[in-house]
Amino acid sequence: MHTVLAGHGLVKKYGSTTALAGVDVQVGERDSLAIMGPSGSGKSTLLHTLAGIVRPDGGQVLLRGERIDKLGENKLSALRRKRFGFVFQSGQLLPELPAEENVALPLMLEGIARGQAVERARRWFAPLGLSGLEQRRPGQLSGGQAQRVAIARALAVEPDVVFADEPTGALDQATSTEVVRLLTSVTREQGAALVMVTHDADVAAHCDRILQVRDGRISSHSQYTVA
Ligand code: ADP
Repeated sequence: MHTVLAGHGLVKKYGSTTALAGVDVQVGERDSLAIMGPSGSGKSTLLHTLAGIVRPDGGQVLLRGERIDKLGENKLSALRRKRFGFVFQSGQLLPELPAEENVALPLMLEGIARGQAVERARRWFAPLGLSGLEQRRPGQLSGGQAQRVAIARALAVEPDVVFADEPTGALDQATSTEVVRLLTSVTREQGAALVMVTHDADVAAHCDRILQVRDGRISSHSQYTVA
C-alpha cells in the first residue's frame, strides 16, 4: 500500500490539556480510516492536524512523504484546497447556489473558468445518485442528497485525501448507510484516501480500518470488512 498521508508522534496541547499525546497514523491510496472514541478524546484534533488546519506542537505530518506541518499559511491553505477534500456534518453548502455550482466552487477557486468547472462538477452527479438534481438549491434537497452534493464537492478537485467529520451526524440510520456507502466507494474509485471521524459504529464499519482514540492516544486499531 502506498502511504498517502502519515502522522508521526503527533502532539497537540491546549494550555494544560493534552489533546494529542503522541499519535502515529497512516492512510494509503483507496484506504479508509475511521476515527472513533469518546467525546473529548482528541478525534477532531487528530483530523484537523492531519488536514493541516491545526498545527501540532510535536511530531510530523507527511503528504506523500513530504512534510506539510511546517509550511507557511499560504502554501498550506493552497495545499488544502488542491489536495484535500472536506465533508462536514451539515450546512456547508451555499444556499443561494444550485447544487452543480456548489460542486464547481472549489474548481473555480483554483482558477478554472465557470463553464468548464460546472461541466466537470456535473460528472459527479451520476456516480453519487444525484442525476437530475444539478439545478436544485440546497434548500430543495433532502439531508442525504445535500450530503451527497457535499461529497461531490469534496471529490471534484480530485484530492489525495478526503476528510469527513461526522458526515452522517445529522442523518437517520437508513440515509447514513446510503451516504457512507457512497462516500467510501466513490472515494476509493477516485484512488483517494479517506479519514473519517464518526460516533456511529455502523458507519465506521464501512471503513477498512478503525482507530480508537482515548485521552489523545490510540487505544486500539482494528480491521473491519463490510459484509
Ligand atoms: P473529540 O473530537 O474527540 O471530541 P477534541 O479533539 O475536540 O475531541 O478535543 C480534545 C481535547 O482538547 C478536549 O479536552 C478539548 O476540550 C480540547 N480542545 C480541543 N480544541 C481546543 C481548543 N481550540 N482550545 C482549547 N481546548 C481544546
